[in-house]
Amino acid sequence: MNALVYHGPGQKSWEEVPKPGLQATTDAVVRMTKTTICGTDLHILKGDVPTVSEGRVLGHEGIGVVESAGDSVTRFRPGDRVLISCITSCGRCDFCRRGMCSHCEDGGWILGNTIHGTQAGFVRIPWADTSLHHIPVGADEDSVVMLSDILPTGYECGVLNGCVKPGDVLAIVGAGPIGLATLLTAKFYAPGDIIMIDQDDHRLDTARKLGATKLINTKRDNAAEKVMAMTFGNGVNVAVEAVGVPETFELCQAIIAAGGHIANVGVHGRSVPLHLERLWSRNITITTRLVDAVSTGLLLKTIVSGRLDARPLITHHFGLSQAIRAYETFAHAAEQSALKVILTNDE
Ligand SMILES: [Zn+2]
Ligand SMILES: [Zn+2]
Repeated sequence: MNALVYHGPGQKSWEEVPKPGLQATTDAVVRMTKTTICGTDLHILKGDVPTVSEGRVLGHEGIGVVESAGDSVTRFRPGDRVLISCITSCGRCDFCRRGMCSHCEDGGWILGNTIHGTQAGFVRIPWADTSLHHIPVGADEDSVVMLSDILPTGYECGVLNGCVKPGDVLAIVGAGPIGLATLLTAKFYAPGDIIMIDQDDHRLDTARKLGATKLINTKRDNAAEKVMAMTFGNGVNVAVEAVGVPETFELCQAIIAAGGHIANVGVHGRSVPLHLERLWSRNITITTRLVDAVSTGLLLKTIVSGRLDARPLITHHFGLSQAIRAYETFAHAAEQSALKVILTNDE
């Protein structure tokens, strides 16, 4: 089979690799139907994720069909259509039993990281019973791919950790796929104003179509001043950081109202100043989280019912064999007006 293989910082290729087989009785092997590329994959290619070694097949998102299942797998059979969670969960360790599957003692984010991933013809999924989901008949498959990572990430790390409530003023800093996934799932809680902040007009325009009530382009405006003016000097109840650079986390600190929640979603590579000299008395909370993917089943129901439509997050389609071209498009997202790209298995 062919796969997208990481060969060290800046190096990747589409090449032939051995097809994976079952290694444990709790494994399944899945023939990929659709996969996608994540911002995290670009971080890996920059060399920012040292756990990824040379020769690794990348990718932690996608859907497929079960090819084979180990003897201990009870919930899935060959031929079943499945959604692959970016988080592998044993379901039995202390962390899994507390719902913190991202820190599973024998799982967590391992796909396309410490084991081979989903940008391939086939993938081996450890702990299949608790790491795969059945795809209901009639569910839009492209939308379901968005459930592997970005929708649970936006919902768990942004909306739930941010404690979004009806009427809250919510600011989302960063209108990329994760920021937009946060926007889509925040609407379950009927916030008041949703202020979207980014430097790309195409992304802001998408945010407006998806329900943002106010837009700020940081290339044209001072975002902190503008948010304070929009909120009569109070600031926002919830600020979600969905970029991962110091400037955007500092912006969240500048616009948070007394009693507010700053929910970090972004992947940070540098230290960020924390302004306790201003915030110590403001009754705020700051949260961090790696997605636990414990909301995947719930979000799948909202897609099946039509309450959540993730299709606007998808801008490009490629064949899986065009993975290199797909990476080019995704890496130049601004020029290409790209959000998520879908790669359909054409092998
Ligand atoms: Zn991802
Ligand atoms: Zn576990």
